[in-house]
Amino acid sequence: MTMIITEDCINCGACAVECPTEAIYGPGESWVENGKSLTPLSNEHFYLVTEICNECSGFKKIKCIKICPMDAIKKI
Ligand code: SF4
Ligand code: SF4
Repeated sequence: MTMIITEDCINCGACAVECPTEAIYGPGESWVENGKSLTPLSNEHFYLVTEICNECSGFKKIKCIKICPMDAIKKI
């Protein structure tokens, strides 16, 4: 199972605020792993880094999916 943010995203930013692991970045924003700055996975919309996301382990609900007004975050 993995998760993605689709093109339905309207860049509201709510999911990034909610994410407990800071796995969600804004369009064109570099993501960071082990102190290294890495190429953005999208320049168009918010994106989710599966290497960082733990699918909200320890929480009852998947926080980003719950808050997204566009239903743009999918488990695939
Ligand atoms: S599932 Fe949870 S940990 Fe993963 S990106 Fe969404 S809010 Fe963050
Ligand atoms: S909450 Fe949904 S619409 Fe808002 S930035 Fe995240 S994925 Fe995009």
